[in-house]
Amino acid sequence: MPKPSKIPLAKDKTCEGCHRRPRWSIKSKYCQKCSKSYQRMRNKGYPPEAVQGFWDYIDKYDYVCAYTQMALDLDDPKSSRYMVFDHVVPGDPRKIVPCTALANTMKTDMLVDEFKDAVCQIADHFRLGKPVNIKDPVHWYRLFPKKTGSSDD
Ligand SMILES: [Zn+2]
Repeated sequence: MPKPSKIPLAKDKTCEGCHRRPRWSIKSKYCQKCSKSYQRMRNKGYPPEAVQGFWDYIDKYDYVCAYTQMALDLDDPKSSRYMVFDHVVPGDPRKIVPCTALANTMKTDMLVDEFKDAVCQIADHFRLGKPVNIKDPVHWYRLFPKKTGSSDD
């Protein structure tokens, strides 16, 4: 007679995303937070390298904003702290990081260095009255396709 198999309880296994919390069911590889993230990444169709990069980030830092280190809200899509996926390079889905909806809205189509420079310049302006000279972000015009064959060319 075969040995009765011992099905481990979900709480005995660690989440494969964050490696911090227990899995939330015996059918899931993930804790509740990581399960939500997994579903959202799948719905968005991110490529495997982006998903792996996301898990590497979560494994290292857990659910904090990549730009502010504020704790991320995974439940309320209306919260300014709601976790969204930032394309590190605007328009390129191959590298994503979790960040607050607020930081993502502020970053818009800037590269990370452009975002930091803009925020610091604006902060210096608010605090010290320094003039602001923000250069055009390199990806700024990607949403405004160039017209071809127009009479202005
Ligand atoms: Zn997890």
